[in-house]
Parts: sequence; structure tokens; C-alpha cells
Amino acid sequence: MEEMVAYCGLVCTQCPAFIATQKDDDSLREKTAAFYAKEYGFTLKPEEINCDGCLPREGRKIGYCATCDIRACGREKELENCAHCQDLPCSKLDAFHNFSTFAKDSFEKIRQSLKQ
Ligand code: SF4
Ligand code: SF4
Repeated sequence: MEEMVAYCGLVCTQCPAFIATQKDDDSLREKTAAFYAKEYGFTLKPEEINCDGCLPREGRKIGYCATCDIRACGREKELENCAHCQDLPCSKLDAFHNFSTFAKDSFEKIRQSLKQ
């Protein structure tokens, strides 16, 4: 499967929610719901773990991703992802990166690769 990198830097194709959805894997949905509850305090049921990734205009998204203003902003600017944005630093992005170190680390790698 081709890699999908979200506007915030998260790699959708490595996300357990995305993988569980695309494989229709109920066991992974259960593990993912338990992980989200433990790590983030989310109260998603396993059957609510359904996501088609950040980039498609349509498709299922869960939790924060269903209403994300980073995604809306990146789409409006027609960017590949926020690493290409001329308006960095960005408070929206920084706030999310304080919450998700996965996204922050991935985003920083993209930024570094653009500088080379
Ligand atoms: S919807 Fe927002 S938080 Fe979710 S992957 Fe996309 S940019 Fe990141
Ligand atoms: S302003 Fe922020 S959220 Fe919008 S595209 Fe730029 S970095 Fe992303």
C-alpha cells in the first residue's frame, strides 16, 4: 500500500486505526480502542475504530481527525502537508504536536528532508 502522510505529519498508513479499518480486523480494532483509552483517555468502542486516512476528501475519520482544523487549513492551502507551509511556525500545529509525539517526530523528519 502506498504511504499516506497526513497534514500534521502522522503516517496514516502506519496507524492501527487505519490498518484495522482497511483490513477489517476486529481484533486490531479492540486492541486499538484499548490503546487509545490507556494512552489518551479516549472512550471509543472497538466498532467505532474506522478510518480511511487524512487525505481523501471523503471517507471515515475518527475522534479529533473528524473535525481537525489542521486538515481543513492544509486542504484550503492545497499543500501536500504542513511541512510545506509558508506560515510556520503554526499554533494549531504546535498544539497538536504537543499532544502527539508521533506526529511531531514524523513532521520534523519531513522538514529536515525538505532542507537537504
Ligand atoms: S485529520 Fe488532522 S490530526 Fe488527523 S491525521 Fe489529519 S492532520 Fe493529523
Ligand atoms: S497554517 Fe498551520 S495548519 Fe495551516 S497549513 Fe500551515 S502549518 Fe498547517
